[in-house]
Amino acid sequence: MTIETRLFIDGKFVDAVDGATMDVINPFDGSVLAKVAEAKAADVDLAVAAATRAFSSWSRMPAAQRGALLGKLADAIEANADELAVLEARDTGHPIRDTRGLDVPRTAATFRYFAGLADKVQGSVIPVDAGFLNYVQRAPLGVVGQVVPWNFPLMFTSWKIGPALAAGNTVVLKPAEITPLTTLKIAQLIQSVGIPAGVVNVVPGYGNTAGQHLAEHPDVHKIAFTGSTATGRRIVQASAGNLKRVQLELGGKGANVVFEDANLAAAVNGSAFAIFHNQGQACIAGSRLLLQESIAEEFLDRFMKLAASIRLGDPLDPATEMGPLTSQRQQQSVLSYCAIAREQGGQVLLGGAAPADPALAKGFFVQPTIVRAAPQDRVCQEEVFGPFVTVTTFKDEAEAEQIANSTTYGLGAGLWTSNLQRAHRFAASLRAGMVWVNCYKRVNPGSPFGGVGASGYGREMGFEAMHDYTEAKSIWINYDAAIPPHYPR
Ligand code: NAD
Repeated sequence: MTIETRLFIDGKFVDAVDGATMDVINPFDGSVLAKVAEAKAADVDLAVAAATRAFSSWSRMPAAQRGALLGKLADAIEANADELAVLEARDTGHPIRDTRGLDVPRTAATFRYFAGLADKVQGSVIPVDAGFLNYVQRAPLGVVGQVVPWNFPLMFTSWKIGPALAAGNTVVLKPAEITPLTTLKIAQLIQSVGIPAGVVNVVPGYGNTAGQHLAEHPDVHKIAFTGSTATGRRIVQASAGNLKRVQLELGGKGANVVFEDANLAAAVNGSAFAIFHNQGQACIAGSRLLLQESIAEEFLDRFMKLAASIRLGDPLDPATEMGPLTSQRQQQSVLSYCAIAREQGGQVLLGGAAPADPALAKGFFVQPTIVRAAPQDRVCQEEVFGPFVTVTTFKDEAEAEQIANSTTYGLGAGLWTSNLQRAHRFAASLRAGMVWVNCYKRVNPGSPFGGVGASGYGREMGFEAMHDYTEAKSIWINYDAAIPPHYPR
């Protein structure tokens, strides 16, 4: 497999202006997987200039034609599915069964969805004074800067690039410094399907250099960011110079609430997926398990057995259910939360350490970890972003609501119940951008994705995303020559 490691600017793969590179590490064994060109301010400037040049013709291209090109990109992703799945597994540590079964198909599906939406974003006509026609168009914003994290790098290229391009914008995307490889592969496919030069530019680099410069750039009209809440705050400050539009998909601390009337087998299984899929490195992870007292022990017994049976291993082995965390830094961070939990009186019921298996010793693994803790403890308030779930019990619905809404975050949340009225009532009471009932972490390109509070603002996916990548432009036509002007002379 040949891996593209250079920056993608103005339709060409190029080295960084100063020739700098950065190592991309394989999280399974700590080896250097690739040396990738490192973009800095000068490279970002070139990318923004290319996107600015490309905007005029891309935004005027018939929307159906833009959609057709995005459709070709979806086809190309499917034609290269296996290569993308392997590359994503090697770069991120996601098990290949997930990159094949979820990440790659979802990426293609998202591009295909926005391919179809490109020519379906309609404006409106507003009833105004006689003699005037007032119509509102959804106009593209211009050059959009996009900054993404390392947890789902391939999928996030489609969440970001898909709606931006469908709406007629051009893009400069900065992948996370540790996981740029599948985004560069997508850039190759973008080149191969004939999306014009400069419409998409990909600039791997560090956050405090390339990312910060992109967020501050005066010729960038919107910055769409996915990442931590702390960085989100810096992005808002950096955007102030030219008052660029900001969209933030930030952290989460998802409450996953199991009521005593739930189907327990489904709740146990779904709750394991909610936290352990992708090693828990998901903003929408169900990382706080809230159990009604009457079923807590039975639930925990089954849940711990399931968690203990998860197969850790080489991400490229189809039998592997959980791979390593994506970086050593993240592994150490998650392990430090095990110590914090103990210091605050939490009880580690399962895991809490790297696995003892010598075959996994070089990888950045953490065992599936279950911690009993109090709602105000740090591990119940701060995002751990790993295979680490806290367990708290509650007496009744009122207490469950109070605990579920007790963090600053508001991204995803779930509840398990067989009572229809409770399902609707409790879903309405949760402070979250997304709520799952008797399921968890369902996503679809048509359904809005995003949060409230410290989880950010703006929405990805669906018509909401097209809205967030366009501006309402109100146009007034005077069609009655008899209407006097305001200052008659
Ligand atoms: P991070 O904020 O450290 O980095 C995310 C991206 O921002 C990276 O590309 C990084 O290089 C860049 N960056 C860092 N500093 C920057 C700066 N000053 N200016 C511009 N860019 C900068 O986050 P992370 O640790 O890579 O990712 C994990 C976080 O992302 C978690 O908090 C997780 O919840 C969040 N996340 C949110 C969503 C969502 O949709 N809400 C999805 C996935 C991940």
